[in-house]
Amino acid sequence: MKCYDCPRGCGADRDNGKIGLCGGGKYARIAKVIDNFTYEEPCLGSEVTAVFFGGCALGCSYCQNYKISRGKAGEEYSDKELAALFDRAQHPIDLVTPSHYLTAIERALPICEHEHTFIYNTSGYETVKAVDRASAFTDVFLADFKYADSALASSLSRAPDYFDVAVKALQRMRENIQDVWEEKDGQRILKRGLIVRHLVLPEQVKNSIAVLDTIKSCLGSDTVISLMSQFTPNGVGEPTKRLRKIEYKLVVQHAQKLGFTNGYIQEFSSADKKYTPDF
Ligand code: SF4
Repeated sequence: MKCYDCPRGCGADRDNGKIGLCGGGKYARIAKVIDNFTYEEPCLGSEVTAVFFGGCALGCSYCQNYKISRGKAGEEYSDKELAALFDRAQHPIDLVTPSHYLTAIERALPICEHEHTFIYNTSGYETVKAVDRASAFTDVFLADFKYADSALASSLSRAPDYFDVAVKALQRMRENIQDVWEEKDGQRILKRGLIVRHLVLPEQVKNSIAVLDTIKSCLGSDTVISLMSQFTPNGVGEPTKRLRKIEYKLVVQHAQKLGFTNGYIQEFSSADKKYTPDF
């Protein structure tokens, strides 16, 4: 069957040996599994099992994981092997960039011997249909909202339609899964729901401000947002500059002005490589 799982809609016949624009074939390619991964957002709990998929449907020039998102790193897992990997997980399972393997994940889930909690960690570049399919097994959508500026989306991710696509996808995530909170050891944990992440890029404060304005108008100011300062030039693509402290501060101030009540910000010292998994 030809694949139209992501907005690229390349139609690759992956079941018959073809590889899509995302780098994906029939079976899921796993580049790395980290069993005690800790997220920046404390509401995701103390630890997750992070499953990093190889390839990517978006392919941003500044990707911190470009060695796996663009290369051929990783091993193919049969559906049975993928189910077994999920069953071995000790924590909630964080599917990192899973969109192009949605079909493989769907094939694996009925073979799992246990129920699992899933975090669907996506670029936000999703079709509404894919969001509906992922909602069938996802507990928390951890979704990027990268660009409001189409020219920027075009130059950095070859996706001039990113804004329209991501807004529809995020709205559908919001419709499908409402936030459910739980108190655990004095910590508020998001059991189900949506976290919208935004990575602030150097010299792109206007884009970040427009992203925040859109989150407020389309999803509401009670949306859980996470403003990330950890941009680091990856040495192979644009942007090549570092984020300045004042740029991040202006974006955080704008979020506060808009009245977001559920937000995470990072220490500016995050703008180094300490959050970048070493592949
Ligand atoms: S997921 Fe991959 S193969 Fe499927 S439409 Fe997107 S780029 Fe093409």
